[in-house]
Amino acid sequence: MSFRNFPMVPRVVFGRGCFNQLDEILTPKRNSDKAPFIFIVDDVFKGNDWLISRIPLHHNDKIIYVSAEEEPKTSYVDKYRDDLVAEFDEIPSGIIGIGGGTMLDYAKAIALMLTNPGSSADYQGWDLVKNQGVYHVGIPTISGTGAEVSRTTVLTGPERKLGMNSDYTPFDQVVLDPELTKDVPTNQWFYTGMDCYIHCIESLTGTFLNAFSQSYGEKSLDLCREVYLEKDLRDEDSQDKLMMASWHGGMSIAYSQVGVAHAMSYGLSYLLGTKHGIGNCIVFDQLEEFYPEGVAEFKRMVEKHNIDIPQGLCKDLTDADFDIMIDVSLSLVPLWENALGANWKDTITREKLRSMYEKM
Ligand code: NAD
Ligand code: ZN
Repeated sequence: MSFRNFPMVPRVVFGRGCFNQLDEILTPKRNSDKAPFIFIVDDVFKGNDWLISRIPLHHNDKIIYVSAEEEPKTSYVDKYRDDLVAEFDEIPSGIIGIGGGTMLDYAKAIALMLTNPGSSADYQGWDLVKNQGVYHVGIPTISGTGAEVSRTTVLTGPERKLGMNSDYTPFDQVVLDPELTKDVPTNQWFYTGMDCYIHCIESLTGTFLNAFSQSYGEKSLDLCREVYLEKDLRDEDSQDKLMMASWHGGMSIAYSQVGVAHAMSYGLSYLLGTKHGIGNCIVFDQLEEFYPEGVAEFKRMVEKHNIDIPQGLCKDLTDADFDIMIDVSLSLVPLWENALGANWKDTITREKLRSMYEKM
């Protein structure tokens, strides 16, 4: 038996206000005055002086505002890379993503594509990336995806929605400043936080579980329960705890896998563009059969925070639409294996998936 030997984020700073240390963190990493730092910033922060004025810009450093409306596409990643290569004489010193999972994934992917030829679509899969990317830093402003610790960057390409999973993908540095999450709208706070909760349930009930994953998953689950069930306020303590829940949830799936909710929400996302957090909630809401306790607890959280979970997404879809979602979902073999074991195909047929999607 051979065990996976995977990389982790080598440097992390945690604390309210630690974003102020960005200049001292980046300065030693500058390759030359002509090699800029590029900040990929969620455009929700445009005009937000509290955050933007603290981004340390020197020489030809540049902020690129990116919309989180759509999830990252391989074509956009390629375009950002091509534009940077055309604009600057030297390859950037570093790429810094500031935002949710969308910005973090853009930052990872652009950093890798600056040193790997061709299109990012060529690298969707496992261990296809050949060269180390440029230095890249992740600064989450919303908690839950675990993208800050993960070994992947999830991209929608011409043929599939699939990550660039590689040893070169994890960030070189992560800045965890929970204060940056203080203005996240309530519904979004819930959807992205539930991505973490669902990572824990899928990891802890999966067949791939081991003590490594379990130790991180249980800690993360405890923190999620505290934030979403025990606390009445989204205070500083709960911002701190949700940020660490996300980190631990990401670590938990590093050595296991996600499961049914992710396998099905990738289908929704591919066909309808449904975003990851909300898509997971829409799917998980219907998964009592697979995760009875987790779904019951999830419904209590929805009720406590008075969250809207959209219904009827699939009611007007055609047979061809359902087939696309089913194909995407069935292609995620490791997720099904983790959820249901090697004989997962006995339970998960095309008809079964169709009837489940019809409820959403
Ligand atoms: P997001 O980045 O899509 O952002 C969600 C919304 O929150 C956006 O409208 C954004 O503008 C807003 N927002 C973010 N921070 C804010 C703040 N501080 N104040 C106000 N608004 C703020 O959300 P997400 O759920 O973190 O990320 C989803 C993406 O992450 C998907 O593309 C998904 O594929 C990806 N993902 C990646 C991994 C990974 O391991 N790489 C894991 C899970 C999900
Ligand atoms: Zn997820």
